[in-house]
Amino acid sequence: MTGQMPEEVTQRIKQAAEIIAASHPVIALTGAGMSVESGIPDFRGKNGLWSRYDPGLYATIDAFLADPVKVWEMLREMDDLVMKAKPNPAHINLGILEKKGFLQHIITQNIDNLHQAGGASNVIEYHGNCSTLSCLSCTRQYSMADKRHEHLPECDCGKILKPNIVFFGEGLPEDTLNLSFELASKARVLLVIGTSAQVSPANTIPAVASRNNAAIIEINKEKTWLTEQLTDIFLEGDAGDIMSGLVEEIVKADA
Ligand code: NAD
Ligand code: ZN
Repeated sequence: MTGQMPEEVTQRIKQAAEIIAASHPVIALTGAGMSVESGIPDFRGKNGLWSRYDPGLYATIDAFLADPVKVWEMLREMDDLVMKAKPNPAHINLGILEKKGFLQHIITQNIDNLHQAGGASNVIEYHGNCSTLSCLSCTRQYSMADKRHEHLPECDCGKILKPNIVFFGEGLPEDTLNLSFELASKARVLLVIGTSAQVSPANTIPAVASRNNAAIIEINKEKTWLTEQLTDIFLEGDAGDIMSGLVEEIVKADA
């Protein structure tokens, strides 16, 4: 799997694998880049969903409150993509790492359920999940599966429902914040995968881990601000290829 990679990246994968195999606990922070190979575009890509729906105009709580019908146009398309998406080798290999005991927790900014579909169990969904909906008026909860047939999902009380994802401008549940920072402060290794680390407060997790002497291993298609400032080992490439190579080497390093 690592055969087609530049020798430099292959060497760094081996180095990262040795560190992961010898460290505990290891956690991962993942972002939209993780699911690009599953067909869900990230925010930075120039094509797809986000070129038609500016996240600044469609993914904010103010936009939803002002015009839920408009925001549901975007949510419908996003739901179609998420429904069709299957876990890719990056999700599957993280699941394998967890099962083999090399990875303790995943903190994901994604709302697509693909970590769980890829076999991981200890997943903190930092920005929620799009498979359930709630009513902002009466707090009733629904599953998206039961409401998908409705063009505009409505509560029994008549209000338009909101998916249980954290929009820009919304706060995060306190227990999610506390648990994530606690895990970051205890981690010996933080694997950062497919995030540009622009969205706060998730983007403060690497600094918390680094301050507590965790090794920061970053897998991204392009350099980010973390690469120069916090990352110890940068593995440049597609998350699927890099994770496949990394898991192969971790198993060897542990043998
Ligand atoms: P982002 O779009 O800001 O950054 C994605 C990062 O992944 C970039 O650094 C990019 O170079 C990298 N990348 C792209 N393809 C990759 C690949 N195949 N392999 C490895 N890296 C790759 O994403 P973000 O930092 O997660 O922030 C976006 C916000 O939007 C998050 O809060 C997230 O909740 C939300 N979002 C979620 C999804 C999803 O659930 N799948 C999709 C889009 C946006
Ligand atoms: Zn209601």
